[in-house]
Amino acid sequence: MILALSIVLLILILNLFNIRICFIYNLFHIPCPGCGCTRAFIELLKGNINKSIEYNPLPLLLAIICVIIVLWNIIDYIRKEQTFKLFVKKYQKIIILLSIILTIIVWVINLRNPLLY
Ligand SMILES: [Zn+2]
Repeated sequence: MILALSIVLLILILNLFNIRICFIYNLFHIPCPGCGCTRAFIELLKGNINKSIEYNPLPLLLAIICVIIVLWNIIDYIRKEQTFKLFVKKYQKIIILLSIILTIIVWVINLRNPLLY
């Protein structure tokens, strides 16, 4: 946990100085599916949803999914059910496939995004 927080802090500090640590961008000079996520996340924290989507739509989608997961688990806890766990178990392969497709779509979008060059 401390390591993960340290990495996030390091990325945010490097981002402030406009230093890109993306391996794919530094090697091939094209943005990866995750490029712009830090800037999009910062804009999301500022409440600039449109600007966040312009950088990368993944952090907004991730935030929405996280809210749904938390609410779903709270409802499950109150009702003493495990519908979320059953849903994930039942649709695990579809969730993984959709995640891969979504990542590819975002990558194609990122390749044409002038903000990421
Ligand atoms: Zn990248």
